[in-house]
Amino acid sequence: MKLLRGGTLIDGTGAAPVRDATITTRDGRIESVTTGAGAWPADAEVVDVSGMTVLPGLIDCHDHLGSHSYDLAHRLRLDEPASTRALRTARAIEGTLAMGYTAVRDAGGLDAGFRVAVDEGLIRGPRLVTAVSIISPLGGIGDSMSPSGHECVVLDPSLPHGVANGVEEVRRVVRAMIRAGADVIKCATTGGASSRAGHGPKDPAFDPDEMRALVDESHTLGRRVMCHALGGRGLRVALEAGVDSIEHGCYLDGEPDLIALMAERGAFLVPTLTVYEYHRRSPRPHVRERAHALYAHHVESIQRAMAAGVRVVAGTDAGGHGHPPNAAELEHLVAAGLTPIQAIRAATGLAAECLGLAQEIGTIEKGKRADLVVVAGDPLADIRLLQDARRIRRVMKDGEMVREA
Ligand SMILES: [Zn+2]
Repeated sequence: MKLLRGGTLIDGTGAAPVRDATITTRDGRIESVTTGAGAWPADAEVVDVSGMTVLPGLIDCHDHLGSHSYDLAHRLRLDEPASTRALRTARAIEGTLAMGYTAVRDAGGLDAGFRVAVDEGLIRGPRLVTAVSIISPLGGIGDSMSPSGHECVVLDPSLPHGVANGVEEVRRVVRAMIRAGADVIKCATTGGASSRAGHGPKDPAFDPDEMRALVDESHTLGRRVMCHALGGRGLRVALEAGVDSIEHGCYLDGEPDLIALMAERGAFLVPTLTVYEYHRRSPRPHVRERAHALYAHHVESIQRAMAAGVRVVAGTDAGGHGHPPNAAELEHLVAAGLTPIQAIRAATGLAAECLGLAQEIGTIEKGKRADLVVVAGDPLADIRLLQDARRIRRVMKDGEMVREA
């Protein structure tokens, strides 16, 4: 039995912080949450966390742990041996856990072997929910065509090719992802900021029949659908087909009926502000231009979605821009108008709902998995504390202390 006493508890439900909390864990789960002094069993391993804040382990709903650069050769997997890349990915996974992230949903490029490696204890890392590869039609963001027109497909059976055209092929490729170990299906119905010139944020991909087939096949096989969609017709096609989350959603602000549809259906919005901050400084002019054009709309989209009751959750879209502290997204969410407690909930309780893991993780409540992070100071006074490695004093996953600083 482990016991954390004296800290301020932010439980991840959105409730106000509770001072002088005592949290006990046993066999990997939270056994009790109480306040004030009390008696505890003689066998308890007591940790005094006075002056610190205890939060649920943080969750990133949109990461790319297997990506490390937007450089073309890297994206086409030509720049280094697969083994070097795998070890680089393992390092990113370990580093993410060390910063208090105990669960990550990977939005493409991470093969299911990394989840197995974490589950078997070969490496330390967050719980991984992985999409394996992005599904799109020819010319969409799942198509790794080079600007010279060459189709550069590195044949790796652990990362099946995500291009699918037509209803039959869409169903086949969804099945191929699940066969390769996908926990969630990632698709794309628009271009993005960093996609090739000519396939931008409002340019559609997939027709309504294809998307309905994709969602139907995924749900039939018990997988949620996370859909990259920034704006325009593709955003509408995705939502009307019934996807479970909209990734980015930058131009939602112009679609009040779609915001209402998201609220009604319980679809999540995963804004990923961190990546657009990065793209505004991109060396590629068309990427920079798109990122500047969408930013104000993105912030407005978040505010309107929140006001309509849509669950907005935190995702960084890290990987292409390296693996800086994932909690940068919380700083951006606060700048976009969320309160610090809302931003924390977006990366804990609500994020667990987005991953379909709310029964197990996301809040500090009796019976949940003991995934916690202990931070020196008050992140409600300064949300940036969560990005400071010196402040992340302890990280617990499944009741085991995986970081003690
Ligand atoms: Zn992404």
